[in-house]
Amino acid sequence: MSGVPSPAADGLLVSEVFSAIQGEAALVGHRQVFLRLAGCNLRCAYCDQPEALEPRPGPCRLERRAGSRTWEQRDSPLGGDDVVAAVARLWEQVPHHSVSVTGGEPLVQARRLAPVVAALADAGMPVMLETNGTFVSGLTTVAPWLAWVSLDLKLPSVDGEDVEPATQERFLATALDAGLTTWVKVVLGPATDSGELERAIDTVARCARDRRDVEVFLQPVTPFGTVCEAPSAARVLELQERALRRYPLVRVVPQTHKAIGQL
Ligand code: SF4
Repeated sequence: MSGVPSPAADGLLVSEVFSAIQGEAALVGHRQVFLRLAGCNLRCAYCDQPEALEPRPGPCRLERRAGSRTWEQRDSPLGGDDVVAAVARLWEQVPHHSVSVTGGEPLVQARRLAPVVAALADAGMPVMLETNGTFVSGLTTVAPWLAWVSLDLKLPSVDGEDVEPATQERFLATALDAGLTTWVKVVLGPATDSGELERAIDTVARCARDRRDVEVFLQPVTPFGTVCEAPSAARVLELQERALRRYPLVRVVPQTHKAIGQL
């Protein structure tokens, strides 16, 4: 592909590479190779990847056989070629649907990530980006090689962070303007503020305009860390109803990988 960036001189901070069943949102149930990068600019209260938050060198693990949870230990950062090889090794062992580039927040390392996603896409491994939607320029850097974007819209009443809504709106608009198939995930907690949710849904409605393929997935939080309880079924019903009154494509999908006890 023309315009492919040259291989990064410095490597990627990686947490782990493994094969698993996608448990969330639009690609739920598909088998994916997960490339989990280290480092995130946020600290959401419900984050279930605390070991992937610090952007620093250290050990990382690469699954040896797809789905086996047996690991090869390596030192991160890993060179771009090594990252692509670790993903391709699993891809070839089991038929996979796609590669999930996740974290942490992958776009913290957008410049170094670009040649890796380019190599994966060029080798026939379509890439889905999971992102917190706070690095608009990072998205622009990797967008040419993405097949899908899964964007978390953050609600302060749930995650405890103070993410700027205007930044997230710009991110979503940029993804859609780039022609990327994009969906939005919103995590719901017991204390979800209805007004925050409605404003997030309005953001989607503004950006989606006439497109009928921008779905919203409401994801009741799975208790983890300092988050001790999920929202009640009654509350989830009420929140979905509020969302549906403003935008037609709103589904509720809990984390299914946790329901089956998967990594
Ligand atoms: S954005 Fe994602 S990886 Fe970062 S703290 Fe929040 S949930 Fe964790």
